[in-house]
Amino acid sequence: MNSTPMRRLRLTWGGATDQGRIRANNQDAMYADSGLFVVADGMGGHQGGEVAANLAVRTLTNAERSDREQLREAVAEANRVVHQTALEEAELHGMGTTLTTLAVSQEANTHQFVILNVGDSRVYRHRDGQLEQLTEDHSYVAELVRRGELDDDAAQAHPYRNMLTRAIGVHAEVEIDEWLLEPVSGDRFMLCSDGLTNELADLEIAEQLRFDKDPSTTAKALVGLANERGGRDNSTVLIVDVQVEVIDPDEPPLSSGTSESQGRISSSPDEANTPIGDSENFSNQLEQKSNTKKRSWLSDRVHVKLGAVIISLVLLFSSAAMVTAIGLYARSSYHVGIVANHVVIQKGRIGGLLWFEPTLEHWTDIQTVQLAEQDRQRLANGEQMLDLDNAKTFVANLRSRLVKGVDGS
Ligand code: MN
Repeated sequence: MNSTPMRRLRLTWGGATDQGRIRANNQDAMYADSGLFVVADGMGGHQGGEVAANLAVRTLTNAERSDREQLREAVAEANRVVHQTALEEAELHGMGTTLTTLAVSQEANTHQFVILNVGDSRVYRHRDGQLEQLTEDHSYVAELVRRGELDDDAAQAHPYRNMLTRAIGVHAEVEIDEWLLEPVSGDRFMLCSDGLTNELADLEIAEQLRFDKDPSTTAKALVGLANERGGRDNSTVLIVDVQVEVIDPDEPPLSSGTSESQGRISSSPDEANTPIGDSENFSNQLEQKSNTKKRSWLSDRVHVKLGAVIISLVLLFSSAAMVTAIGLYARSSYHVGIVANHVVIQKGRIGGLLWFEPTLEHWTDIQTVQLAEQDRQRLANGEQMLDLDNAKTFVANLRSRLVKGVDGS
């Protein structure tokens, strides 16, 4: 037997988002899957902020993103898409969003974390009881603090504390901050929007992260605290716990640890010995242990390379099977609804499910004022569709019975 040690990266994550106690809607967006964690905080009148945040997240999740170059290009693409949409739609002019991302990336033959950031949403790392903000805020007051012209307390109270110096979608090009990190066991990452950090001091956040409760419970507690302190903005928290295990490939596979029923998907030593380039074979073997959906996600995200070390990547959610199932259900259909006074096709269930909010699939130029009264009422609550074709047909029919011209006259 080949006894080269294997390193396995195991991630457990959970998140929470809330519109807070003042804002009329939630313009934050959040996304978590096998190796990509994103928080976006949209801004812009009407529902521009919501559109910008969702467009950015959707562009990112649809992109190729297995290494640093691709991830960076995906963020640049998100910027172009939001910018272009803002130019094309009068009501969305000036919309933008923050975008902060923690992703697993294939670098040489190891897996690393890549952090990409634009705006003032943040990534923190909690390690050995210490909380460290890894990203830099692209805000006017943060620039002043960095230049030593303002202290932290003055920054918290500054009237321009929400003014960003960089955001996704505002200009045709955007500068993206980037960090590359080695996965370390016990690290706990937190992605959040400023709705959390404007209400809670870092010390209070650290205290919650230190309790060692599961990510989902901790995220909910933090969002709850932000609301208790005033909830003046939407707040979003996404927590990712890191475990790195070195395993002996000569051991019989997986006699210990999480049981199959909890959604464990893993590679046995034999699978890890699959030659480079034979990922098809690798994923076929995995299929025996998991359903098709999980296999597709694994074959997307898992890479096995033979080198000095054999490394395999296993990403887990606590009760992953259940959550994956809910996520697939939540995203598996389409509905037609209204965003920023326009008819849109959204992917996902009406109202979202857990934090799997619907994402914008297709924007139309049909405005609410052009709709017949009956259609307007139907769409106010969203109209569930079987699939995308169905939704497109529905929109085409809608178009045929518009009561007013495109200019709304
Ligand atoms: Mn905010």
